[in-house]
Amino acid sequence: MKTKTLPKRLEAVEAFLSRLEKAKALLREGRVEPLGGSLYLVQGSRPYLVDLEEASCTCPDWGRGHACKHLMAAYLHEKEKKPKEKRVEVRV
Ligand SMILES: [Zn+2]
Repeated sequence: MKTKTLPKRLEAVEAFLSRLEKAKALLREGRVEPLGGSLYLVQGSRPYLVDLEEASCTCPDWGRGHACKHLMAAYLHEKEKKPKEKRVEVRV
């Protein structure tokens, strides 16, 4: 079966979802290191510095008008820090 070209907006959704998955993986693998304040060091293919307050990242993907996976990973980490009941994801 041939793959149909996705409408532009769906392409954006696809790209977003795939980045989100990568961000979750970074977090799961312990590649997100809080440096204090709003700063995070995220180990991607190289280490990148994320500043949540500025919503910025030092990777090349950043600045193309979207949130990169490093920023997402740091943000997810930040959200998980909030004192809530810790949930463990179990996949069978
Ligand atoms: Zn980045």
